[in-house]
Formats: sequence, structure tokens, C-alpha cells
Amino acid sequence: MKLRHSMLLLLLSAATSGFSQNQKFTHADTLRGAITPQRAWWDLTYYHLKVTPNTKDSTLTGSTSITYKVLQPNQSMQVDLQQPLQISKVTQDGESLEFRRDGNAFFIDLKKKQESGNTENIEVFYSGKPRLAKNPPWDGGVQWIPDGKGNTMISTSCQGLGSSVWWPCKDHMYDEPDSMKISITVPKNMTDVSNGNLLSVVDNDDNTRTFNWAVKNPINNYGVNMNVAEYVSWKETYKGEKGELNLSYYVLPQNLEKAKEQFKQAPMMLKAFEHWFGPYPFYEDGYKLVEVPYLGMEHQSSVTYGNGYKMGYRGKDLSGTGWGLKWDFIIIHESGHEWFANNITYKDVADMWVHESFTNYSENLYTEYYFGKKAGAEYVIGTRKMIENKTPIVGIYGVNQEGSKDMYYKGGNMLHTIRQIVNDDEKWRQVLRGLNKTFYHQTVDGAQIENYVSEKSGKKLGKVFDQYLRDTRIPTLEYAFGAKGLQYRWSNVVEGFDMPVKVQIGSGKEEFISPTTGWKTMKVKEGKTLIVDPNFYVEAKEIKASL
Ligand SMILES: [Zn+2]
Repeated sequence: MKLRHSMLLLLLSAATSGFSQNQKFTHADTLRGAITPQRAWWDLTYYHLKVTPNTKDSTLTGSTSITYKVLQPNQSMQVDLQQPLQISKVTQDGESLEFRRDGNAFFIDLKKKQESGNTENIEVFYSGKPRLAKNPPWDGGVQWIPDGKGNTMISTSCQGLGSSVWWPCKDHMYDEPDSMKISITVPKNMTDVSNGNLLSVVDNDDNTRTFNWAVKNPINNYGVNMNVAEYVSWKETYKGEKGELNLSYYVLPQNLEKAKEQFKQAPMMLKAFEHWFGPYPFYEDGYKLVEVPYLGMEHQSSVTYGNGYKMGYRGKDLSGTGWGLKWDFIIIHESGHEWFANNITYKDVADMWVHESFTNYSENLYTEYYFGKKAGAEYVIGTRKMIENKTPIVGIYGVNQEGSKDMYYKGGNMLHTIRQIVNDDEKWRQVLRGLNKTFYHQTVDGAQIENYVSEKSGKKLGKVFDQYLRDTRIPTLEYAFGAKGLQYRWSNVVEGFDMPVKVQIGSGKEEFISPTTGWKTMKVKEGKTLIVDPNFYVEAKEIKASL
């Protein structure tokens, strides 16, 4: 997801990220956020989603065919669909099944004996008026926007909220189908762009046509999307690390010329991110940029774009350094999510930092790739002013509760700090590429990512992750110059915090010191000044009193 910004950030973050550890969660939160027994016994293998949006009354009618493998015998299956949408019928092998509604969860009684190892299928039929997106992409749902020519543009966005806001599915991130087909039926003059490759466009008798899209890779729920407009499009081929990649662009006719210029940044993005993160993860599905009426979202292989063809974030530089105006924030940030969100996907939204911290950090790496290491560092350091340090980055597990918005800027600065500790740029790049290879097309726990980075970098980073992800305090390097020399320690930190840090003492060269929470002493040759390398997201405080 895209971060909110400026006034919006200030106004909305209080309402959405001001949760506390004491927050009460409901039965509905658990049904939405836990791997319930009615979810755990079956493994998704394939979805075929068929939807016909009706612009006259803003309703959807359709079905999801769900193919799954039985892991453990069980006769009760949970499928999710949010109010006010309604499931009208569920069938298995042509037979209608009974089901019971519990809020946004449906429990289906399966008649056929479900035996371990078997592959089965159900089809869930539904209709109704889906939740309108109030402030997409942050407060999502379905948007119906008149295009001024008598048509209605339709777009979906649902991260966090969940894809069951517009189609019936297993609405938990831990499980993804191996592939998917999406069939959207629209008025004859309109085009639907969803995910993957366009297989066919079928003309129907009733002045509509059906766009059939095939996704050949695992896809997360919120990555699935429907975008309907009178699009014009063009294509190009990108020669990347895994061969030829098809790039397609879909924009409104009036923006075609602007888009052709602005979207030159898409192949530039691919070049930079393949360098840092490894091959684009969905060669088989191509890469698309699709214009939408809202800011943007990392829909898998179908990145949606609404940045107004401006550089920066709606024309602004989030870092205040000027570097953020050198590129289009939505093209770079949302596409960065193809590696961290769509390739490596959190199992639980409490670990959303795996998506947002790395993708925020990708902005720094993109800047570095084209404008040099100093520029990248200035950019990420420049974004520190937006860190709040009010609640931890990691959210609450099992109840669909994400952590604080610090997962963006603070998360990016945490990774930039870790790079300094690794102190070997090529090794660091191999860690980033290794993550995308090791966890290729997987859903993960945050702990797997933390452990991998520690192991492959050869650095003990457990306390560093604890400090930045699960605590709100900024480490403070306390130091004093006295008769014994330089004394220093970490304060304002988690127990056992022992992060090495680079400092310059007097006029000497930068060097690493290894503070702990206890005072250490070192002899200094000359000078009574200490400067902490600004690439480390820490504070420093000189203690003047004698120790
Ligand atoms: Zn994002």
C-alpha cells in the first residue's frame, strides 16, 4: 500500500494508527485475521473469479470457483464475503450446499466426504452493492467514477480491508492460489484490466464483452484487481535478467502523450530493481501500469497509477532534499512492491513492514542507482522528519491489525542503518537478492526475514530488529570525554542492545565502536569531539558531568 502524506497523514494517522496493545478485538476480527480451523484444513490451488459490474446501480454479480486440496478431512469450510454483499448459492459437483453466515464469514457444510490429498472444487455465487471506497487506496472498496463521456470508470482497492470486500475468497494472506483466472464482463466500449495476461476478449449478445485474464503465478488476495475504463494502451518489451518481459500500459485517451513520456520510468525502475533485488518476480504475467482515479496500489503485475503524471509524490518531495522530485513516486514505490509484497508476502498484516519497510527503502536504492550513493542516503535521511515513534512497527497477530505507519520511513531508515552495520555493499545487495530468491512466491512471517538478514549478513541483528520494530525509542549513544579517555554506552534501548556504530573521534577517520548498555572506555589520541555517522538512525548525547 501507499503511504498517506502531509495533512492527510496527520489527520488520518491519529484515527488509524493510534491503537494500543490494550485494544479490544472482536470475534469478527478473529474470523478475519486468524487461520481458523475452517480455513486450515484446505489449501487453495486455483480461483476463477467471474464478475459483472452493473454501473446503473453500482452492484456486482458473479461467482468464484475455488479449487483446493484437502490437507485434513473436515466438512465445514470458511469463505469470506463482506457485508452488504450476499452469497446466493454454493455448489460442489453440481449440488447445492447449505451455508451459515457469521458477519463477514460464511461457513459452508460440505456434503461430499473431504478426504486428505484429494483436489476438490466449490463455486460460490454472489451479488449485491459492494462497499464504496471512501478514500482509496487507504479506505478501500469499489470506486464508480463518471468519466465525463457517459461511461463509469470502475476500480477496486482493498489492502488491509481484504478482497472479500468485492469477491468471495479465503480472505487471509497466508494462503495463495497457485494461479488464477479473472473474467470481467463490461459494456462493449469499455476495457477491463486485471492481473496477468489477457487470454481473450469474448463478445456477448447483450452488448457486453468479457475480458479473460490469466495469472500464472501465486497471487495475494489484495493484489487482485478490476479496472474498467475506456483505456488506450501500448506495449514494449524489456530485456531483463530472465529474458524478455512484456510491458503494457493502459491510460485514459486524453493522457496518452503525457503517459508515454512519464512511463519511460517503468523500464528504468526495472533496471534498478533487478540490480538490487533480482529478476522481476512475474515474467510469465508481464508488467502493467494502469491509470486509475486514486493514487495507486501494488496490484500484482498490474500496478495501478494515479499520481497525475507528476514527479515526486503528487508533485512533492517527501524527503525535502530534492531527490524525491527526480522520479515518479507511484511508479517507483508501487512497483517496488512487486518484490516486497507480491513476491515475498506477509502471512499476517502485523508484519506489513516486510512490504512497506523494504519498499520504502527501495526508493533510496532507486535514487542511488541513478544519482549516486550520497543522493540515496540523503533521501532516506531526509524522510526521518516524518517518523512518529508513537507505537511499534509490528502490529498485533491473528486479528488483522497492522502496526504503525512508521513501517515506512522508520523501516526504511532501519534497513539503511543495517546496511551500515553490514558495511559491505555487495554483500548487502546479495542479501536483498537472496531474500527474493529464498522466499520466491512465498508468504512469510516477519521473523523469517529477520533471521535471514542476520544469518546471511553474518551480523547479530536480533536486538536491532527488536529495537526498531517492536520498540518506539530511538537508541541514544551517550558519551563523555574524561581523564580515562572516551566513555560510551547505549541508552534508551531494549535490554542487551549491542549495535555497532560508526563514529568519528576528533579529526580521526571514521571507525566502528561496539557500545553495549554498560559503559565502555577507550583511549583517544586527540580531540574531544565525537560525531556519529548520520547514516545510522540513532541519537547522540554528550554527558558533560564527570562519570
Ligand atoms: Zn507501499
